[in-house]
Amino acid sequence: MGKLNLEIVTAESPVYSGEVDSVIAPGVVGQFTILPHHAAFMTMLEPGELCVRQSGEELFIAVSGGFLEVKDNEVVVLADTAERADDIDAARAEAAKRRAEERLRHPAAAAELATAEAALRRSLARLKVAEKRRKREKRTI
Ligand code: ATP
Repeated sequence: MGKLNLEIVTAESPVYSGEVDSVIAPGVVGQFTILPHHAAFMTMLEPGELCVRQSGEELFIAVSGGFLEVKDNEVVVLADTAERADDIDAARAEAAKRRAEERLRHPAAAAELATAEAALRRSLARLKVAEKRRKREKRTI
């Protein structure tokens, strides 16, 4: 079936670069899978989990939004933020989740609802991906 080239970058740093078998990404209209030789397209991303499959291995990356473009067998992800499962500080994400939930319960202003909801969704995406790492660690013990 061949491979496709994947580049994941944020404004801060490159996060992933290499040949992969497939990518599953959280698009604004739902999760989608990209296989080699996919037709060209572009979409915005939601906060969520990006899964990279490569030679039977799965790598999970939390993204908080951004753009994804597929063209000429290459996938380029320009993410707002992106952390590999191993780089996620779960305690920090848990604290961010609690702060966001508190702000949603007692918003100081209506505009705060949207920012608190966005922060909550980022924290949930990070916790979901960190959980994948925890499960994997359990299996190898
Ligand atoms: P916090 O309130 O904990 O800073 P946040 O959602 O506001 O969370 P962002 O603004 O999305 O954080 O990200 C700021 C930077 O910190 C980015 O580089 C992001 O990759 C990194 N980051 C945020 N949360 C975590 C985490 N739980 N583990 C590892 N890196 C994180």
